Amino acid sequence: MIEVTGLRRAFGNRTVLDGIDFTAERGCVTVVIGPSGSGKTTLLRGLNALDAPDAGQVRIGDAAVDFGALPSGRGEARRAIARLRAQSGMVFQNHNLFPHRTVLQNVTEGPVVVQGHARAAAEREARELLDRVGLAGTEDRFPFQLSGGQQQRVGIARALALHPEIVLFDEPTSALDPELVGEVLAVMKQLASEGWTMVVVTHEIRFARQVADQVLFLDGGVVAERGSAEQVLDHPTQERTQRFLTRIL
Ligand code: ATP
Repeated sequence: MIEVTGLRRAFGNRTVLDGIDFTAERGCVTVVIGPSGSGKTTLLRGLNALDAPDAGQVRIGDAAVDFGALPSGRGEARRAIARLRAQSGMVFQNHNLFPHRTVLQNVTEGPVVVQGHARAAAEREARELLDRVGLAGTEDRFPFQLSGGQQQRVGIARALALHPEIVLFDEPTSALDPELVGEVLAVMKQLASEGWTMVVVTHEIRFARQVADQVLFLDGGVVAERGSAEQVLDHPTQERTQRFLTRIL
């Protein structure tokens, strides 16, 4: 379960998030669309406090942070943010794999170093995850020896290895050659059908139609429109949503 209330973020005098509100049930796939610069990445980074919002509340699973009223002790504030961050796994546009570590090491790094799990158990699970994303047999390769689509699937396995409550995807296919997009979307569809709670920033409207339980259209720092894929993509009520869709479809 995700609950976001009044999320705000400004860079200097530019307000990027101007009071974002939304909720998502467990197992729900939320697709976030919107024009370039509308704050989609800033929102995702706010959800796991990679970039802390200035104000507003985020509750994910049993962790909650009120960014406008963080605990006054620095240690306490840091612990609250760490608890929130532990709820989510993030898949980046450019996968952000460690280039000098093998595929297996990339997937086990978080569980072993951050979460303190035993290496043998983490490796066993990493192999299973790699198998699930179609990458059995690549464990000892380095990222540069893989295609962009394979690298992105390692990024997904790495996020899942942390056992997050939710998985955040920031334009996971937009840096890929067109012929590699399908294999990454297929893995994401599989995760959706397995019941993962996902928030996905993407321009892949077909994917949104097939998989999204809800679509958020971000514009001007707010959720300008929210509803089922059919409501938002086929019958938008806001003129700015219609204009955006006309441009990208
Ligand atoms: P895109 O679709 O192009 O990726 P987006 O909707 O994800 O865009 P963001 O990346 O969230 O948009 O950026 C929103 C605005 O905030 C942009 O104008 C960007 O320049 C600005 N911004 C983002 N991060 C920072 C930062 N660290 N410092 C200053 N400005 C920033």
